[in-house]
Amino acid sequence: MKYKVGFGFDTHRLTAGLPMTIGGVTIEHTSGLEGHSDADLLIHAIIDALFSAADMQDIGYHFPDTDPRYKGIKSTELLKECINMISEENWQIENLACTVVIQKPKILPYIPQMKQILAQIMQISTTDISINAKTSEHLGFIGREEGASAHVVALLKKKQ
Ligand SMILES: [Zn+2]
Repeated sequence: MKYKVGFGFDTHRLTAGLPMTIGGVTIEHTSGLEGHSDADLLIHAIIDALFSAADMQDIGYHFPDTDPRYKGIKSTELLKECINMISEENWQIENLACTVVIQKPKILPYIPQMKQILAQIMQISTTDISINAKTSEHLGFIGREEGASAHVVALLKKKQ
């Protein structure tokens, strides 16, 4: 049995008036995340962690933001495509550990719903995906509410 760990990271700018989608869940706030797709930084970091573990390049390689097909696309759709691609290479997800770093708003209340949506897409148990939320203690661009980041570690198992 072969196991591989992967790491993913993403950052998006926060802009007033834009919608905020994190982990497939719409979050009520005065500002939102800016990007070519729906800018769901948690899902982008998850996709990068999965591709990283499978040694299959990254999100920008498979879903380039210069491709009009991906303009405004829901990141949940990208995650489905990513799961299909790694499954074709016989990779199966063991577990994911995620941390979202955002100063405001508090995303803790949304985490159970994120876990449910993501676990369903990835066909894993909600107990195999952990999501933690942190602030940056008012330091740097995250502390100034100019942006937010997500960090994800994924463990994959190669099916024999
Ligand atoms: Zn992104």
